[in-house]
Amino acid sequence: MDPFEDTLRRLRETFHAGRTRPAEFRAAQLRGLGRFLQENKQLLHDSLAQDLHKATQLDSAFIRKEPFGLVLIIAPWNYPLNLTLVPLVGALAAGNCVVLKPSEISKNVEKVLAEALPRYVDQSCFAVVLGGPQETGQLLEHRFDYIFFTGSPRVGKIVMTAAAKHLTPVTLELGGKNPCYVDDNCDPQTVANRVAWFRYFNAGQTCVAPDYVLCSPEMQERLLPALQSTITRFYGDDPQSSPNLGRIINQKQFQRLQALLGCGRVAIGGQSDESDRYIAPTVLVDVQETEPVMQEEIFGPILPIVNVRSVDEAIEFINRREKPLALYAFSNSSQVVKRVLTQTSSGGFCGNDGFMHMTLASLPFGGVGASGMGRYHGKFSFDTFCHHRACLLRSPGMEKLNALRYPPQSPRRLRVLLVAMETRGCSCTLL
Ligand code: NAD
Repeated sequence: MDPFEDTLRRLRETFHAGRTRPAEFRAAQLRGLGRFLQENKQLLHDSLAQDLHKATQLDSAFIRKEPFGLVLIIAPWNYPLNLTLVPLVGALAAGNCVVLKPSEISKNVEKVLAEALPRYVDQSCFAVVLGGPQETGQLLEHRFDYIFFTGSPRVGKIVMTAAAKHLTPVTLELGGKNPCYVDDNCDPQTVANRVAWFRYFNAGQTCVAPDYVLCSPEMQERLLPALQSTITRFYGDDPQSSPNLGRIINQKQFQRLQALLGCGRVAIGGQSDESDRYIAPTVLVDVQETEPVMQEEIFGPILPIVNVRSVDEAIEFINRREKPLALYAFSNSSQVVKRVLTQTSSGGFCGNDGFMHMTLASLPFGGVGASGMGRYHGKFSFDTFCHHRACLLRSPGMEKLNALRYPPQSPRRLRVLLVAMETRGCSCTLL
């Protein structure tokens, strides 16, 4: 019998039912905490005195953003320049020293980063190290002050386990399956343009690409010809000869993706050519949830469509799975978009478009749950690579003022102390 099970289940049920979301609910809880302190003042005084003999006072304070020290940045292969340089900017801007470990798979960019980049950054604070899983594993045995990892959830766990040995804080920018809900109340051609653009961009090898579409069978019927027309317009009658379509990074990834083409039924595309690492922009229908294409992150130019009967069913489908890095909802009804937004959780969200939310430096970028932890881009990069040091500076003089807080305590002193705190607007507690 697990003594915690009932309590944890009850709290999770409350959370999933959305009870804690409304602002009034949260304000009511905080008012409750205030009342708790007010109504139990004497009881708390007595119990604090019994436990700790304690009373403290907060003063004015400031946050000093300080570099962590030695930072390790580990990058993947799919945007090998962007995903190394963008974190690097934040780490250097904050004043850290950096070890950069690019992906060994995008070997040409790795070479440029190793050979050319050190000429542009002071080598006393910066180093590029090379290697695959084995070398990275060895690197991770060392102590770093911060680790910023971008890659798969599988390797994210390895990185976090290694970091835990030294209590090193981490940012994990991971992947997963990003749902894309398409409501019946949509213009199929507009949706097809936007979905195809961001699904087939970089041959689908994008962490925030829509991994699958959720829509009704009726919308699927309208969407398929629209997707076909978009694909032809974007890449021509023979997408393999199009200069606008990327290739799969290597043979291993190609073979993995080729196997996924066997799931469900090919409605559009489906062709592949191993010698060219080419996979046609593909749409799959009649896909079962248990098939590999719905179990693993696709990371290629394949778009399965899964049928749902309503927005409720789509939300339920999404919430049954790990929290995604990005979530998309298309509808002419802002109510529907808002429902998907408020009743789900994901690293980022975009209504009626693809991954445009991640292009804005004013928005943080990062995952939640299985899609990662931490955030960066713009100011958030700087903050990620800083320790937010809480500081208090006091005058060495005016010791008489301090006498109030020194023992022995008396009810009169306490009253004066409380008045002093109120007039200074401190949200100080006695605890
Ligand atoms: P990966 O996890 O295989 O590799 C990432 C990095 O980890 C590489 O530098 C690699 O050398 C290193 N690595 C691999 N195996 C390791 C091991 N056993 N021990 C230690 N280090 C190891 O990821 P990938 O294949 O390069 O990239 C694809 C994944 O990255 C996808 O899941 C994608 O969604 C994700 N991704 C996420 C983001 C994001 O911003 N959230 C961006 C791009 C890619």
